[in-house]
Amino acid sequence: MSFRRILVAVDESAFAARAADAGFELARSLGAEVAFIHVIDPSVVSAPESGIPAGELIALAEQDGRRLLAAFSRRASVQPPPLEFIHVGKPATEIVKAAKDWPADLIVIGSHGRGGVERLLLGSVAEVVMRHAVCPVLVVRAEE
Ligand code: AMP
Repeated sequence: MSFRRILVAVDESAFAARAADAGFELARSLGAEVAFIHVIDPSVVSAPESGIPAGELIALAEQDGRRLLAAFSRRASVQPPPLEFIHVGKPATEIVKAAKDWPADLIVIGSHGRGGVERLLLGSVAEVVMRHAVCPVLVVRAEE
């Protein structure tokens, strides 16, 4: 099995940044291509009480997501420059789908995300991706 295309799933957490570093390192040593994915979950960004239409909130979250991915791309310093995917939907579902569509040979993901490590062996996104991905998944564990 060869790993030529590595999909790195990132949110704003330090856990994802650690996973991304492992992904870049691997990509450099294997000469593999890198793509990042960040998923906007409409159920998280919508705030009906704010009076701001959901579409506007999603558009703002997409802008933030693009900035996040651009920062990761700069940090990766790999050639060719990483691809950047922004999806809207359920994070785990969209990560699995993007890996199938690109297609990726490996998904790199953090063991935990924005929710932190409290009482959870594995974050829910990481767990669902591991169960449903059609390619191998590298889960980078949170530091103690
Ligand atoms: P969680 O399951 O939320 O604890 O997150 C575990 C890992 O899944 C994170 O470290 C990221 O690698 C990835 N992840 C979580 N949420 C997202 C998201 N919205 N978009 C892309 N990757 C995500």
